[in-house]
Amino acid sequence: MSFPRVADVVVIGGGAVGAACAFYAARAGLSVVVLEQGAIASGTSSACEGNILVSDKEAGPELSLAQYSQQLWRGELAEFGHLWEFESKGGLVVSARPGTQDNLAKLAQRQRAAGIDVELVPGGELLGLEPHLNPRMAGGAYYPQDAQVQPMLVVAHLLRLARGMGAVVEPHTTVTGFLRRGDAVTGVATSRGSIDAPAVVNAAGTWGGAIADLARVSVPVLPRKGYVMVTEPLPVMVRHKVYAAEYVDNVASSDAGLQTSPVVEGTGGGTILIGSSRERVGFDRSFDPRVLSAMAGKAIGLFPFLAQVKALRGYFGFRPYCPDHLPVIGPDPRAPGLWHACGHEGAGIGLSAGTGALIAASLAGTALGMDATAFAPERFDAHLATESAHV
Ligand SMILES: Cc1cc2nc3c(=O)[nH]c(=O)nc-3n(C[C@H](O)[C@H](O)[C@H](O)COP(=O)(O)OP(=O)(O)OC[C@H]3O[C@@H](n4cnc5c(N)ncnc54)[C@H](O)[C@@H]3O)c2cc1C
Repeated sequence: MSFPRVADVVVIGGGAVGAACAFYAARAGLSVVVLEQGAIASGTSSACEGNILVSDKEAGPELSLAQYSQQLWRGELAEFGHLWEFESKGGLVVSARPGTQDNLAKLAQRQRAAGIDVELVPGGELLGLEPHLNPRMAGGAYYPQDAQVQPMLVVAHLLRLARGMGAVVEPHTTVTGFLRRGDAVTGVATSRGSIDAPAVVNAAGTWGGAIADLARVSVPVLPRKGYVMVTEPLPVMVRHKVYAAEYVDNVASSDAGLQTSPVVEGTGGGTILIGSSRERVGFDRSFDPRVLSAMAGKAIGLFPFLAQVKALRGYFGFRPYCPDHLPVIGPDPRAPGLWHACGHEGAGIGLSAGTGALIAASLAGTALGMDATAFAPERFDAHLATESAHV
């Protein structure tokens, strides 16, 4: 088929978020073209884990988006769940010390008030949920709504379903600039020619800031590097997503230095995924085995049997991080015709469903499924203006 020259919507980025935007926009009856500079899912969506979590989020707009996304994964997307290995496995957050458990109980109380299902688990009952857990844990909290998917299958199948509704997907096509009429965006220039489109969605993940620059607007998306270690396949030893309570603090932290906290979960294939690390080192692609050692040591602290298990490999990716830890979702009033759907940091697989649905509703001019004000692209300009007013 020849390269498309016109569309209702161009989506830049063939990761989980771009795929969800394309799926929902096509379902809303719009003609969609997805442009991806590399192979499909070659960005962070193939260098991550696939958790759909509510447990690691404080009450607030990100948790609301996670709840909205949960409704979609478990509701209208449920018929496709088997395609992307959706597993409603539940999450178990554990505390090594009583003081940490007190803080976890307070977090659980705030989350419960926001509508999350969470049960505190006394230390003595943890082994009933996870028989191979270190028996010396002080307590935990169980989140039945936490789930897991295989992220690359999410991308592949959402794009396949979108294609079935008429969308066109063009891998190995780089967006190099925007077509403009005054401030308005009227299409894109690409490595394979230009496409006219009244709406362009920036779903370029960690590269979303660079795409915004091409449109002469500012969206501060930065890379936050993270590693994952993969063990040899085993019979089921870890039943839930299990992580230490300190992980929640690391997620919320803006520290640039290396932070590691133990996160352990099984997969359908039998391998165990071990995380997590966070550091802001730009797009540094060097592989540092010391980070994997730190993660492995902490994971063994949670599950001592891991000391006897072989690691098969490790990989890293760059989370798309915004300074306020919230994604950027919605139309950009500074460049009419441009929408953003990027900056989801460590939660873009889980949040992709809600993001795609919000973007499609906004493109189609229908009611949004939730209040998206907190994700407005221009919020950073307002912040800069306030800061300079105080100088
Ligand atoms: C170690 C690690 C663990 C994680 N675990 C989880 C988890 O358990 N659950 C979860 O929800 N999230 C997790 N995340 C976060 C998640 O991976 C990201 O938030 C998500 O993948 C972002 O998806 P995206 O579609 O926005 O970006 P991406 O998947 O990066 O897609 C953006 C695409 O845009 C393309 N692109 C960029 N510039 C251009 C251009 N000029 N022209 C054309 N295409 C372009 C890129 O090539 C890329 O493929 C994790 C991340 C890491 C690093």
